[in-house]
Amino acid sequence: MPLIKTGVIGHPIAHSKSPLIHNYWIERHGLSGTYEAIDIDPEELKNGINQLIETGFNGFNVTIPHKRSVMELCDTLDETARAVGAVNTVTIREKKLHGTNTDVFGFIENIRQSAPDFDFTKGSACIIGAGGAARAVLYGLLKENVPEIRITNRTQEKSEGLKDMVNANLKVIPWQEREGALSGASLLVNTTSLGMTGKPSLELDIAALPKDALVCDIVYAPLYTNLLKQAQQQGNQIVTGIGMLLHQARPAFEEWFGVRPEVTPELEALALK
Ligand code: NAP
Repeated sequence: MPLIKTGVIGHPIAHSKSPLIHNYWIERHGLSGTYEAIDIDPEELKNGINQLIETGFNGFNVTIPHKRSVMELCDTLDETARAVGAVNTVTIREKKLHGTNTDVFGFIENIRQSAPDFDFTKGSACIIGAGGAARAVLYGLLKENVPEIRITNRTQEKSEGLKDMVNANLKVIPWQEREGALSGASLLVNTTSLGMTGKPSLELDIAALPKDALVCDIVYAPLYTNLLKQAQQQGNQIVTGIGMLLHQARPAFEEWFGVRPEVTPELEALALK
């Protein structure tokens, strides 16, 4: 069996959990493959990627700060990558780069697995944040036919910018009025970095959120953010962020290795260490 060479590019890259995830699956499935973390400076992106092509790589994941800039180096982009405006997975075939975005799948699949009874079509969703991750979350929710999406972000122009991205009928809520966006919502998602270890907390009183709404945080360090703790105290069902990270890796692995891997409790525990 030929060796399948894969990895993740970013800058910095030492913190990435992707090598742990993919190497766990390579070992578990007894595959002949490698997955390594590759630091590429933004100035060197084209050269760095050419080197991966020349050294026979089959594909790679893309993380900060290359998710947008890698798009122009791809020979093809699928519909998801184009709609989200970012690529996190590249497959190399006959020296050509094919880009996609699996964060969308990761976000939706995490909810499906963690809250199987949740009905996306039931009611409004409220997204906090309008950065890169919010774009993937928004696209995923639109694909799941969420009837109304409200979005609130510190920098309002970025929320407005998302309207162009998907041509959707988004309700943009000013940051100061964010608590008002919660009434009647079925789903609340934090996509900001607020609440992450080392960052300020997300200041959001969720008293107005219906008790049967689902609350997700895509931040996974800590696993139980203040938002999720507040939601639990209020009796809302919660979904933590680690599943998005693990599930987004599955379609990439399948694309390169031809095996759709599973997220096991053992893998989740390893990723949270
Ligand atoms: P990003 O593009 O830099 O966006 C950051 C977001 O956080 C923006 O909406 C920004 O608002 C907001 N923000 C940052 N500091 C703030 C503050 N002090 N007050 C109010 N808002 C603030 O980052 P990203 O790529 O979207 O990632 C966001 C978070 O999601 C990160 O913590 C990342 O680790 C996590 N994430 C998790 C997964 C997963 O698999 N679980 C996947 C992707 C990302 P402004 O627009 O006003 O700056």
